[in-house]
Formats: sequence, C-alpha cells, structure tokens
Amino acid sequence: MKRPKSRQSIRGQKRLSELQEIELLESWIEFGKPQSGSNPLAVRPLAPDAPIGRIDGNTFSLYAGCKKFDQLPLSQKTKDGLRDAKYTKMTEIQRASLPQALCGRDILGAAKTGSGKTLAFIVPVLEKLYRARWGPEDGVGSIIISPTRELASQLFEVLKSVGKHHAFSAALLIGGRKDVDTEKEHVNGMNILVCTPGRLLQHMDETPNFDCSQLQVFVLDEADRILDVGFKKALNAIISQLPKLRQTLLFSATQTKSVQDLARLSLKDPEYVSVHEESVTATPNRLHQTAMIVPLDQKLDMLWSFIKAHLNSKILVFLSSCKQVKFVFEAFKKLRPGIPLKCLHGRMKQDRRMGIYSQFCEQRSVLFSTDVASRGLDFNKAVDWVVQVDCPEDVAGYIHRVGRTARYLSGGKSVLFLLPSEMKMLEKLQEKKIPIQFIKANTKRLLPVSGSLTALLAKSEDLQKLAHRAFITYLRSIYIQQDKEVFDVMKLPVEEFSASLGLPMTPRIRFLKQKNKGKKVLGDLSLQEENFDKENLLELPRKNLVTSNLEDDGGDELLLSKEAPLEGQGKETNIGDVAPATRVLKKKRLKINVHRPMGTKVLFDDEGNTPSPLATLANNIEGSDDLIKHDKVYERYAALREEMSQQLKEDKLRDRQRRKEKRMKEKMKRKRGQKEGDEEEEDVGSSDEEGAGRKQLGKRSKIYFDGDSDSDDDTERKRDNKTAGIKADSISLAEQEELALKLLSSMHS
Ligand code: ADP
Ligand code: MG
Repeated sequence: MKRPKSRQSIRGQKRLSELQEIELLESWIEFGKPQSGSNPLAVRPLAPDAPIGRIDGNTFSLYAGCKKFDQLPLSQKTKDGLRDAKYTKMTEIQRASLPQALCGRDILGAAKTGSGKTLAFIVPVLEKLYRARWGPEDGVGSIIISPTRELASQLFEVLKSVGKHHAFSAALLIGGRKDVDTEKEHVNGMNILVCTPGRLLQHMDETPNFDCSQLQVFVLDEADRILDVGFKKALNAIISQLPKLRQTLLFSATQTKSVQDLARLSLKDPEYVSVHEESVTATPNRLHQTAMIVPLDQKLDMLWSFIKAHLNSKILVFLSSCKQVKFVFEAFKKLRPGIPLKCLHGRMKQDRRMGIYSQFCEQRSVLFSTDVASRGLDFNKAVDWVVQVDCPEDVAGYIHRVGRTARYLSGGKSVLFLLPSEMKMLEKLQEKKIPIQFIKANTKRLLPVSGSLTALLAKSEDLQKLAHRAFITYLRSIYIQQDKEVFDVMKLPVEEFSASLGLPMTPRIRFLKQKNKGKKVLGDLSLQEENFDKENLLELPRKNLVTSNLEDDGGDELLLSKEAPLEGQGKETNIGDVAPATRVLKKKRLKINVHRPMGTKVLFDDEGNTPSPLATLANNIEGSDDLIKHDKVYERYAALREEMSQQLKEDKLRDRQRRKEKRMKEKMKRKRGQKEGDEEEEDVGSSDEEGAGRKQLGKRSKIYFDGDSDSDDDTERKRDNKTAGIKADSISLAEQEELALKLLSSMHS
C-alpha cells in the first residue's frame, strides 16, 4: 500500500480538487485504520506526550496521540466548519471514536454527559457523505434520530454550524410542526435528516416515494432511550425500511449493551468505545451532587425556599408529570419569587416549547420541566443547578437529568429531594459510581408556602383544578414506577401532601379492581383503605402501562417523556398494534375517577352491576359526608380570610413603622453626611424583590446545603412565616396589600 501524503501536504495544496482530496483522505484512512478495540482511552488514560501510534504493548493506532481535529483525515470543509465553530481540541470521546468511525465501523459510543458526543457522530456523517460525493440526486444519505424535539433541533444546529461549508441539504423533521406537507415535498431531496422517531415514520408512511434505500450512516443519539420499550415499535418500523448495509453509530451516556437491542440494529462487529468506563465516577467530575430527605408535604416549601435562596442562578427543576409542572409553575408564578419562571413539558405547543427552550438558554431563570428536558440538551449558557424535586425513575434517569449541568468544561451543582421511603435510591446511585453527598436539610430555614397556596387556590378555581390533577398524577407516577424497592405509593402521606398543595380537601384516588372469574365484587378502593389490593396493582405489566400512554387522553403525561415524549401529534397512535389492547387495559385498571364526589364509593353486586344513582345518593345523604366536608372548607376559608385581614392590618402598621424609621435614618444620614451600613439597608429594602433576593443569596444557599448551618436569623424567618399568605420577602408590602385585598374581595363576592 502506498503511504499517503502527509497532512501538511494536503493543507499546502490549496487548490486541491475535490476528487484529489477525497482520494488522499481515503488512502490516509485506509493506511491508518486503527486496530479493532484499540480505544486509546479505554485501554488506559493516554499520557499527554504519548508517541503517535503506540497505545500499549498490544494495540496500535496511528491516531493515538492525536489531540486536535486537524490531525485527523478530515475534509477541509469539515475542518473549516469546526474551526469556525471554535472546535480545535478533541474531547476524549471524539479522540477515541472518530478514528474508528471515520473508517466506516459501527460504533457503540459511551461517554459522560456533556463530553462532546454530538461531534463524534456529526463529523463522521459529514465525512462519509463527502467522500461518497453525495449530491442532491442521491437522496437521503444519513438519518440522525433523537428522542426529543428539542434535542433534534440542537443536533440540527450543530450539523448546520459544523457542516456549513459543505453543500449537503439537511432537514429537521420533528413532531408538532404544522408544515408537514411542505416537508413532504422536499424531504426526498434531502441528504441528511435529523428527526424524532414519530415524524420520520410519518414520512416513511405518508410521503410518496420516500426513499432511504441508499442510506449510508444511521445515527441514534441517546441510543438507550431510543432502543427502549417506548420507541420499540417506531424504531422497528424505521429499521425495517433501512438498507442493512450501512454504518450505524449509537451514542449515549448510559449505553445499552443488550444483545437483543443491538441485534435489532444488525450491527457489524461494533466497536464499543467507552471512554469513561475506568473513571471513578459515572458523572462529570465538575458536578457537585447532593441529596436530602424532603418529606412529600415539604417538597414545595423546600423548592420555594431553594428558589428564593438562588435568585441569581439558572435552575432546572425536574418534576414527574406535566400536571405537576403546570401546577408548580402557575402557583409559584403567582407568588412572584423574584426570578423569571418557565415551564416545559410534552403537552405544550411546539412553537412555545421551542421558544421556552431558547429563552432558557439565554436567560437566568427557573425552568420547571418533565423528563422532556432530561436528555442531551446543552443549554447555551450553563445551568447552575439541577433540582430533582421528584425522584427519577432509575439511575440512568438521574445521570441524564444532572447531566444538564456541568457540561464540557463548566461546573454545576445538583440536588435530589428524596422522600424518606425513597432512600434506597441513594444506595443505588452510589453503587453506580455516583458521588452524591447526603446532606441534612435545615427545616428551620424553610419558607412555608402552603398557606399562600391555600389562599391562591381559594381565589382561583383553575389553580385548584391544576393542584388536584398534580396531586393525582403524582401519586399515579409513583404507583406505576417499576422499581418497587424505591417507590411505594402506600408509604406516602397523602393527606399532608394534599394540604401542602393548598387543596382544601384530599382528593380520593380510586383504583378499579377487578376480580377473576367474572365475579366483579367491588369497585373503588381509596388509597387509604386497608383492603387496597396492592399486589394486584403492582403486578401490572409496565410495558402495557407505558404503551397505554400513547393515548392522548390528557391524564398520562407523566409517561410521555418515557414513551414517545415529543411526538404528540397522534402519529404514534398508529404505529403499534399494542395500543388498542392496552387502551382497554388502561380503562379497566388505571382509571382514576377524579370527578366523582368526595367520599362516595361505588359498590357492585354479585352480577357486577351498580345500584341506581338515586339509590346511591339516598345512601349518601344519610351520612351527609359531603355537607360536612363542605362546611369544613367554608370554615377553613373563613379562618383564612380572618387571618389575612389581621395580617393586612399588621402589615400596614409595620409598613408605616418602617417608612418612619427609614425617613429617620435618611434624615440622620443626611445630617451626618455619612453612609449607613448594608445591614440596616437590608431591613428596609424589601420593596425591591430582586434586590432582596440577591441579598439573601449568600446566606440561604449555605443554609440548605450546610447540614449544620444554624440560623442566626430565626426571628426574621418567624416573622416571614407568620404572614400566612405571601412572604414578606417575596413581594413588597404594597403588593401584599393589593394581593390580600384582591383575595378578600374575591372571597366575599
Ligand atoms: P454530550 O452529547 O456528550 O452530552 P455535547 O456533544 O452536547 O455533549 O457537547 C457538550 C458541550 O461541549 C457542547 O456545548 C459542545 O459545544 C461542547 N464541545 C463538544 N466538543 C467540543 C470540543 N472538541 N471543543 C470544545 N467544545 C466542545
Ligand atoms: Mg448528547
């Protein structure tokens, strides 16, 4: 074999024709083919000055010492694109996998979150098509699949930036876009498709003459997620339309090694490139991770306190369902924490979703999200904190969520709220090499928020509905979790949880129980009831449960992120043959009737019939349960009104007093011609909510994460706590007055 010309000579020949360049690159690649399994970083960490070629006694790679993209056999166009985007040095996964991928091998790439996996597949895609002289008439040459729309958009942006000097056409095909017909007109002429599974399948099914028989490179980003049960049907259908002879690249921070999964992809001697396998930790080194016990009914207090203590941070908050996200977002927004709040979930319109995503990239704010944002997203300006309010479903889920911070070279912090019953998760995380520090929350510093929520809910029926749904979907999310060692719905303090959301009474959760032999005995069991058939509930096959989520009935969004999170346009409902069967199953087993009046219980007779509604009503009137409950609510609201009017008076007085003091101080200041110290200003500075927050920042951030940082500020806090509605430090007194007045008037009306 002829030795290829050196890289210098390629660079030197500025006017090298495309054909000549390709010829050179190919001979270079052929000559430098790394030995199979010669992953320099997996074998051992490479010494900074390791000689080119030698990895250890047995393995050899021409690229072993290469650290820069320029040292690889890449086209000038790709190199220019990389340089323009300020990518010069390769990350570890890029160093290890690019030489293998460039010579056409299938890759199973695993590297920590934020370590540069995207370029590890974008570059080989561009190069393969370039060397094949792919043109418009050749059609689809590469398909890159992402589990979520936002991630697909992000990958598309990277592709556009690094590939900007190439002449390929590329399209972003994601669900939720209205212009599917325009897409259909153009998709056949596209060379590279970046898509979510559902939308790709839609094109495969509906676009006339859609052809990917010439496909060269097939990429799955977040491969384990796409190979997961949620995308199984869609992915199988997609794969069935792809040519077998192709290059396949799979990347994820939590890679699948399941032979079964991989068999579906017909990989050919794939290279398993795992650069951090030897690493002491499974998460980025610059990520500081903490966990603490937060009882269910204190979660919102803790979250609110956390936000108030970090008003200058960019915070990503994970909750388990869309309804949770919506409720917390709407409620906290009304309480005005002093930092912009945003929410992201699978039920939002796509335009809004993209808008929120880009805003969060740019702005210091708090983003409440479902797991829709847990994978792959690289928020432009670094996220400071990842707060997991609800426990992730498994270790992989945890790794991806915290992986939204501490990306590339930046640092980050995370905190996981665990219920006392979820402590097993901590062990599981530690077993999987996650260095998580368990800290004790200082509850003395907690800013209770449920009083304010009760007031808000009393005012807004919509918010009350949201709270109701949040309550139910949360319990359901726990109930359907697969890992029963961690999640046990029976251990949850439901009454307290309900009150903490500001709900006037605890909604009943009913699970329909069906007994064998056609003998339907009884219908509804509340969670609190002793004869709750836990075993029957637990044996529900998860596969069916999650697949039932494809139904767009508005109640199962907590599953969406797992299943087909972003393909909400109904396409996925057609893709599987499972859906109809599971729909039935869902109705029978999972239906939770949230509309039935409180305290009612449907009884079935031996034939499985229910008594007539009138008879049921008659039975109920006897107990007058509903009336009693209604009275209780009335009493509670009356007490609240009383409390708030009292509070209003106190606030007015205090405000007057403060203003007086302020005037006095200013007068004295002017007299002395001297500046007063910061401390006194803090006392009077509550009108500027941002400013007030900032002042607390240092103090409070320490508060929650130093186990023993005891308060020297308790009196202040107690005063805050006493204001049953809105916290004094969250909004100004004038605003409090206004809000309280509004609240009172709405209650009287
Ligand atoms: P992963 O997919 O492994 O989670 P990404 O591909 O999203 O990571 O990359 C994480 C961040 O690192 C991105 O902001 C990306 O621009 C940056 N990055 C990736 N590779 C390089 C590189 N070689 N040089 C500089 N920055 C890089
Ligand atoms: Mg990624």
